[in-house]
Amino acid sequence: MKITDVKTYNLRYPLLEPFANSRGWTKTRTASVVEISTDAGITGWGEGISTPSASAIQTHLIGQSPFETERISEAMRGNIGALSGVDIALWDIIGKALDMPIYQLLGGAFRLKIPAYASGLFKKDKPDITQALMDEAKRYVDAGFPAVKMKIGFGKAYDVKNVAAVRHAIGDGTLFAVDANCGYDVGTAIDVGQKILGYDLFWYEEPITSDDVAGYREIRNALNVRIAGGEMLQGRWAFRDLIQKRGLDIVQPDISIAGGFTECRKIAAMASANYVRVLPHMWGSSIRLAATLHWQATLPDAPQALNPIPSLLEFDMTENRLRTALAQEPINAVDGYVDVPQAPGLGIEVNREVLQQYA
Ligand code: CA
Repeated sequence: MKITDVKTYNLRYPLLEPFANSRGWTKTRTASVVEISTDAGITGWGEGISTPSASAIQTHLIGQSPFETERISEAMRGNIGALSGVDIALWDIIGKALDMPIYQLLGGAFRLKIPAYASGLFKKDKPDITQALMDEAKRYVDAGFPAVKMKIGFGKAYDVKNVAAVRHAIGDGTLFAVDANCGYDVGTAIDVGQKILGYDLFWYEEPITSDDVAGYREIRNALNVRIAGGEMLQGRWAFRDLIQKRGLDIVQPDISIAGGFTECRKIAAMASANYVRVLPHMWGSSIRLAATLHWQATLPDAPQALNPIPSLLEFDMTENRLRTALAQEPINAVDGYVDVPQAPGLGIEVNREVLQQYA
């Protein structure tokens, strides 16, 4: 089988209601989608964070076998944002060619229903943001989610007040993570962390910028809470020091940023060898969500235990039709669990009308 064509689509979905993390307001959601066709009539879909260049398409893709994922990964190492989308599309093709879902190609699923955490609780332009966050958090618990994640990093006063309010709203039985989106320096991250630790946090995500390994170690040593991060890192070498120097308890590679299935398997192996937990980051379209489900299904519990720490899927609760409408069959959370797609490849059909609508 040979690759005959590569198409790219830059999708934009304008939000009805903007929201903010610690770094800025989001008004539009985007996705870089790649479609790869073959002479066998099989088409694969992927999502990255940039699109392959015309020369990469001509040199490394057209005429090549879609099965040669390792070779294509090495050849496209100069643009991992684009490689991520290409690699996902290649695995989609391989799965369709072999009539197997990707999780089987990766060695089999440890779970076919993945417990999800409701990822939301952003800052919004509301007269009473605290009440709005409490109402939103309560909705997630009522919908059956075992865990929620809230945005912090807006200053100590905001963070302490709203973490307390959300913990009160969700009660003691729900896992609760916070995410500062790299909005703090080390001293502030520790100061705020000490003030919010009493609310039984499951993890404290991206307190500081991703590449400050020494800073992550200082925070991890100072605070009695799991530290998470790494969602923006690209390629295994970017993860190396943070994992090997134990800057993190939980590493969060994003399959559409870090390099696709081929690279993420290597990052997961490195994390496993260093006893660092992998919980993938997910913030994208239906394609990225499906790819994340297949990969996460294949990550073993570590350590194996009667009651292991759950492998929680990041389930984006914000409004985004690129996630809720791009696949013909939407991927939903039901009672806090998301099923891994069972059809060959990624197991989704891309809705071309929706694709064109937002291209
Ligand atoms: Ca995050």
